[in-house]
Amino acid sequence: MTLISQPKNPLKSPTLPRLEGSIREKADTIRRIIEENRTQSPLSNASVRLMAASKLQSREAIEEAIAADILWFGENRVQEAQEKWPDIRRAYPNVRLHLIGPLQTNKVRDALALFDAIESIDREKLVDAIKHTFDTDKGGSLITSAFYIQINTGEEPQKGGVAPKQAAHLIHYAKQAGLNVVGLMCIPPANHASAPHFALLRNIAKEHGLSELSMGMSEDFHIATRFGATHVRVGSALFGER
Ligand SMILES: *Cc1c(COP(=O)(O)O)cnc(C)c1O
Repeated sequence: MTLISQPKNPLKSPTLPRLEGSIREKADTIRRIIEENRTQSPLSNASVRLMAASKLQSREAIEEAIAADILWFGENRVQEAQEKWPDIRRAYPNVRLHLIGPLQTNKVRDALALFDAIESIDREKLVDAIKHTFDTDKGGSLITSAFYIQINTGEEPQKGGVAPKQAAHLIHYAKQAGLNVVGLMCIPPANHASAPHFALLRNIAKEHGLSELSMGMSEDFHIATRFGATHVRVGSALFGER
């Protein structure tokens, strides 16, 4: 495997090499980089899981990732996941699937029937729709058992997530509604250093006793690891450019 020192975005990752080779080789390298960073930081979690962000990836690519011992996957769109995942799930019952993209209220029932966890809870209306769907679920076909509140740490108008100032309120609101809130998720702004965003997410989680931190993508998973990520969501560094 060749490692070329040519980061796409030096602001995000001055030291991260561009990864090459098979999905297996890239997964091994990513896990090695995670482990190096994990052991070097006092803020890091005892274990950091590599989640594959598999939007727009084929079943074949997803199966290669599974063969490389990746068991957690994140998809962005409910409809795309509905087309790809039922077959994969039947073939690989140990694989876990999270929704990491925005959720419209009219897709809530479909999402709750497909994903093990939803990481993009960002408004009261969505909490209400989820509660209502569980309350009226007669067939017992809903499987989602964990929820993450998405925080818009950069307060970007075009991005999903609740503003940091409103986080406490939404966390309480979701818990009151009976949602099993396990952690927080964020996507830092593209043109900022990620570290302060990860530090902020970590602090909000700590304030509320939430243990799970979904943060870090291809360009900054090593930084997220240092700030206590419990899983990192890696797409292009694992599968290649989309
Ligand atoms: C696409 C996506 C990722 C992975 O992004 P890469 O930069 O390709 O690693 C992670 N999280 C979310 C929410 C995404 O939409």
